[in-house]
Amino acid sequence: EKEKSLNFLEELIQNDLEKGLYPQGITTRFPPEPNGYLHIGHAKSICLNFGLTENFGGKTNLRFDDTNPATEETEYVESIKKDVSWLGFTWAKECYTSDYFEQLYQFASKLIEKSLAYVDDSSAEEIANQKGTPTQPGTNSPFRNRSVEENLDLFQKMRQGAFEDGSKVLRAKIDMAHPNMHMRDPLLYRIRRVAHHRTGNEWCIYPMYDFAHGQSDSIEEITHSICTLEFDVHRPLYDWFIDKLAIFPSHQYEFARLNLSHTVMSKRKLLQLVNEKVVSGWDDPRMPTISGLRRRGYTPASIRLFCDKIGVAKRENLIDVSLLEFCIREDLNKSASRFMAVLDPIKLTLTNYPEGQSEDLHIENNPEDPESGKRVVPFSRELYIEREDFLVDPPKKFFRLGPGLMARLKGAYIVKVEDFTLNEDGSVKEVFASYIPESKSGSDTSGINVKGTMHWVSIPHAKTAEVRLFDRLLIVENAGDLGDDFIKFINPESLQTLEKVYIEPALANVEVGKGLQFIRKGYFCKDSDSTENQLIFNRTVTLKDTWAK
Ligand code: ATP
Ligand code: MG
Ligand code: MG
Repeated sequence: EKEKSLNFLEELIQNDLEKGLYPQGITTRFPPEPNGYLHIGHAKSICLNFGLTENFGGKTNLRFDDTNPATEETEYVESIKKDVSWLGFTWAKECYTSDYFEQLYQFASKLIEKSLAYVDDSSAEEIANQKGTPTQPGTNSPFRNRSVEENLDLFQKMRQGAFEDGSKVLRAKIDMAHPNMHMRDPLLYRIRRVAHHRTGNEWCIYPMYDFAHGQSDSIEEITHSICTLEFDVHRPLYDWFIDKLAIFPSHQYEFARLNLSHTVMSKRKLLQLVNEKVVSGWDDPRMPTISGLRRRGYTPASIRLFCDKIGVAKRENLIDVSLLEFCIREDLNKSASRFMAVLDPIKLTLTNYPEGQSEDLHIENNPEDPESGKRVVPFSRELYIEREDFLVDPPKKFFRLGPGLMARLKGAYIVKVEDFTLNEDGSVKEVFASYIPESKSGSDTSGINVKGTMHWVSIPHAKTAEVRLFDRLLIVENAGDLGDDFIKFINPESLQTLEKVYIEPALANVEVGKGLQFIRKGYFCKDSDSTENQLIFNRTVTLKDTWAK
């Protein structure tokens, strides 16, 4: 078998290991902010971070990057843990940036002692003006030359709650003329009286992302801190803090984020879809969230396969959502048991099958998996077939049913159409056919060859279910580039509900979420909204790529 070539991060780590830099093994982290549910973009980061330590030896931490109390909630923490586990990964440590608040405060104090940070009374607007522009140097804050003693005192008072929200900040003292704007005396701390989901009201100052993230990496002795491309301009600052504090030298590396067609992935936008009730919740099967994909019927293996196929690169691109669908078909084709369900029924009566009689047929569960065995499917004189499988005026080479045509009923008999009746509106009401008793599947001695095989359900034995069919949530391909306008491009037909579908009785007892195939109709799973009296199935994906661009 051909060895898969290494991506740039794998190459880099292999080199680091060959040089003997990490005899203890490498350490990575997956650092979500608990301000929303994880989405398929996060899955890429999860597969990458956990995958690297699985392949090269080492460990991966799950770190909640919880420095912005206004938007963070424990519900999100719980959902994130559930989703990472469900994808099949085990973290070495469960960490919280908020657990490092004291240590981060000490680091900031140390920078003050080294004359590398100062308390600034300038307003947000004044600070923005001091920053200058990418082509013009900024100007120093009038508070830049406060003494170490004064700064230490003021910073301590900030912590103790002596000042109003927004009245002071702590800034690094670097260079207001630095060509990299992030190095122009960036903010380290701000005052915000907002309760934190873990530390409550213990703190009224909170560290900024740039100050918290790298130092948290260093505290956990992360060797390879992997983030998305837009952070490459933050890297000099990341390195500056580690250098000035002389702490464990974590290194940051950047890769291209996942962009998926017909989808938005910013948590803020996904929250908007939830709040505006465009979808039923974070786990709506149309959402690109891990929980939405799970409810839709996606498996961990399919998502991992997808992440493997898209690879890891240094340049952004747009991945077509059909690749994700390809991956779930790959997985379910191997693993899903087959069942019969008629989504749009017409009645088929077998005129020569004895009234009131029925028989149990034994039909294979999965032709792709010989181990999967057979199930019992009841057969009788009165059946439902799919409306599209009978045409009054069929074209040539139509291998299903029409006047005088023959086809096989899956796992049962060959039938021949004798007659049909119409409704007042001209649609077909009922089809009458004779069945050929010697043509039973598995013991066919009829000598008749038919090309078409159709699914069916026995009317007296059928159960009913609601079926939900899904389409792209957004009608535009590059939905992620539209900014806040994305909301104008919601597909009005992204959810189609079939109120009453006829299903074979075995479908009543399947497990919620387990991948199944409705023969010829796609892959489905039982939805968690199902009750004892109301079965609901979600279509995960059609059998073939039928979506017209
Ligand atoms: P969003 O912008 O979607 O809200 P985020 O980047 O703010 O996401 P975080 O919780 O900060 O969300 O992300 C946790 C990790 O997941 C980060 O390391 C981030 O780089 C990574 N990540 C987020 N979105 C993507 C994506 N689309 N592709 C790859 N990695 C991603
Ligand atoms: Mg973030
Ligand atoms: Mg973001």
